[in-house]
Amino acid sequence: MTFQAPKGTFDWMPPRSEWALIVRDALSAPARRAGYGYIETPAFEDTGLFSRGVGESTDIVTKEMYTFESKGGQSLTLRPEGTASVMRAVLEHGLYGGALPIKLWYSGSYFRYEKAQAGRYRHFSQVGAEALGAEDPALDAELIVLAADGYASLGLKNVRLLLNSLGCKECRPAYRAALQEFLRGLDLDEDTRKRIEINPLRVLDDKRPEVQAQLVNAPLMTDHLCGACKAYHEEVRGLLTSAGLTYTDDPRLVRGLDYYTRTTFEFIHDGLGAQSAVGGGGRYDGLSEMIGGPALPSVGWALGVDRTVLAMEAEGLLTERPGHVEVFAVPLGEEARRRIFPLVAELRRNGVAVDMAFGGRGVKGAMKAADRSGARYALILGDRDIEAGAVQVKDLTTGDQTAVPLAEVVDVLKGKLS
Ligand code: AMP
Repeated sequence: MTFQAPKGTFDWMPPRSEWALIVRDALSAPARRAGYGYIETPAFEDTGLFSRGVGESTDIVTKEMYTFESKGGQSLTLRPEGTASVMRAVLEHGLYGGALPIKLWYSGSYFRYEKAQAGRYRHFSQVGAEALGAEDPALDAELIVLAADGYASLGLKNVRLLLNSLGCKECRPAYRAALQEFLRGLDLDEDTRKRIEINPLRVLDDKRPEVQAQLVNAPLMTDHLCGACKAYHEEVRGLLTSAGLTYTDDPRLVRGLDYYTRTTFEFIHDGLGAQSAVGGGGRYDGLSEMIGGPALPSVGWALGVDRTVLAMEAEGLLTERPGHVEVFAVPLGEEARRRIFPLVAELRRNGVAVDMAFGGRGVKGAMKAADRSGARYALILGDRDIEAGAVQVKDLTTGDQTAVPLAEVVDVLKGKLS
């Protein structure tokens, strides 16, 4: 019997897996430089946290959760997103009593029972950042700039920013009612009709052309924003421009989670086909209260690691081979292996990336392994070298080979590689 990774999941394998690490690091680096602290929460939570926090009417909660009963009879769910867990942890640890905003970043696995397709998986990886406990347009703008800087640091050129405001509890109800009235007059299927009653904003997000064609004259939130929301949004837009960002106003941008208010944004890459969102987020001023906390206006984002690697691939950025060693040691015989082993350890302790030939292969197989390793230099040690107290340092690009005294090899290689 053999096994395969479950449908909708895949393995990150070397050397490609190095890109996942590089992307996680690059997407989180700007937030780390901006005072965001690292948070790690469990991969599963009480099911109620997501049904209340993410929203009963969302696809995520109605169709996509991996929910199971623990042996103790508690309903648990593999986290489909990160924000609700971060909010839960902040409330549980009482952080809102201290300095605000609380700035946190995280990285990990998320689980949604989705229709698996290119760029859409059932197990995927995100880097997220959240700033909790402040209502300040500069905080919304900061997070957007940090995400854009993360993509740019990877060399990505074709990431577009879409921006919208979803209003607040003052102005959204009237808009929601106006939208519902408009939608009820359209020719829509049964499921979509149901959605009008539970979550009408999501209908605007329907990708089907026959639905989109009917939405041309739909009322837009932008035209229904209250004075405070309008001023807030203008401030965010101005700050983004001042920091050199370009964006497109997208009055139809809504998101799949119920807790969003005011600023909403998405980062899109056009080289990805249907699953074009590489990241997204927004302000969620009501979430804390929805899960039993005090008023804690907050803003955050989640960036997709898997899709960002795909976007880099689409832009031809996965060319250089990451994560390979710099030096490959080739002992010719058992005595040579005994001598070269401590030298390899010493090189590594000196910060040089080194691998060596294992398994007692002949010189041909070992040199092939050295070439495959991507190393720049091979260290070859034979009986004659041992007698001479030296090791052969071979430049694998030019083929040049020189004997270096054993006592000097660490310094010589460090010099060559610096
Ligand atoms: P969301 O929480 O849905 O806004 O997701 C934020 C980002 O995570 C998206 O923009 C995607 O890049 C990524 N993402 C969400 N769902 C998936 C999935 N099923 N497979 C791969 N990436 C995903």
